[in-house]
Amino acid sequence: MFDVTKIRADFPILNRQVNGKPLVYLDNAATSQTPTQVTDVIVDYYQRLNANIHRGVHTLSQEATDAYEEARIKIQKHFNIAKSHEVILTSGTTHSINLVANGFTALLEKGDELLVSAMEHHSNIVPWQMLCERTGAILKVIPMNQNGELVMEEFHLLISAKTKLVFCNHVSNALGTINPIEEIIAKAHSVGAAVLVDGAQAAPHIKADVQALNVDFYTISAHKVCGPTGVGMLYGKEEWLKKLPPYQGGGEMIAEVTFDKTTYADLPHKFEAGTPNICGGIAFGAALDYMNSIGFENIASYEHELLEYATSELLKIEGLKIYGTAEHKTSVISFNIEHIHPYDIGTILDKLGIAVRTGHHCAQPIMDFYKIPGTVRASFSFYNTKEEIDVLVQGAERAKSMLL
Ligand SMILES: *Cc1c(COP(=O)(O)O)cnc(C)c1O
Repeated sequence: MFDVTKIRADFPILNRQVNGKPLVYLDNAATSQTPTQVTDVIVDYYQRLNANIHRGVHTLSQEATDAYEEARIKIQKHFNIAKSHEVILTSGTTHSINLVANGFTALLEKGDELLVSAMEHHSNIVPWQMLCERTGAILKVIPMNQNGELVMEEFHLLISAKTKLVFCNHVSNALGTINPIEEIIAKAHSVGAAVLVDGAQAAPHIKADVQALNVDFYTISAHKVCGPTGVGMLYGKEEWLKKLPPYQGGGEMIAEVTFDKTTYADLPHKFEAGTPNICGGIAFGAALDYMNSIGFENIASYEHELLEYATSELLKIEGLKIYGTAEHKTSVISFNIEHIHPYDIGTILDKLGIAVRTGHHCAQPIMDFYKIPGTVRASFSFYNTKEEIDVLVQGAERAKSMLL
């Protein structure tokens, strides 16, 4: 049974006051809150296990290694990944994408084409632009429509035998759109292109099965799924991870080092140079355990209820426009109120204890598309309530009456 009151008790931060008002945390698309089930694991790690991993003969080091590798298995199972060494632990989505983009430098030639969707986070645009600068490859954009959906007819026209890579987010962080990645992956494979899906914004809402998707690379950040910041995953198919060269050199990633020649360690260590975020990795595993204990079907249906309620309540405000009205979307609402700058609304909402994001949400091309400076973004999690949405709607009304 889904009991939001019971769930909220797991998140002490939700009880705090902000500017003398109860916190209403609606910035979940930027980072999620962390339940005690996860913070307990973090405290326990530093109080009982803290040691460097993979190299020590002593007990602490072995126990820490076991806990870290157990987390890798949890991540593997969560995403139905075939082999645990296809799970590369990184510092997050940005690191994961840079690792792949860097690796493709040697695999591309001048004139090769890369396809990117029009609604990407900057972290799924800039590393590829840098790759194009290094290689002479050409970046082409799959356009979107006014609803914030990819124009799939255009995708099918753009993709060709020249296309080597396609990258797209599973869910847009700025609009909430759930993209048709199954169709993109199947088509890309039919022309021999690889696909990287940025799953950072999907992971809190959708449990992806990478084998069913048949995706080549999938990335997520732990801090969007109730885990800590600074840790994440790169999933890569073994055949691709073997083809890509290491991203960083250092300890942990070598088999043998002499001044003449260094040979690299096997997967996953080839991509995990240096001491990793050990505690973060273990807590990442605990965060997935926590989300699974609530259940992704429960999460999706409850969040959908919140989305429908918030959409209809917000639209009662005259002059309020929602950006991102895709048929398939997660619980993210980007909006503006006519004649008011989003930043001003965000500032007033903060005075009322309501945390929303304002600005371009690291997706400036989307804002350019709509010809707006930014939006106010309210993003709901399974621990939010309809009462909090009422507070948001009243706050937005109040901001409007103060600013107009
Ligand atoms: C949050 C997010 C990112 C960036 O994640 P980091 O943890 O900052 O690396 C990338 N893409 C999407 C869709 C996101 O929501």
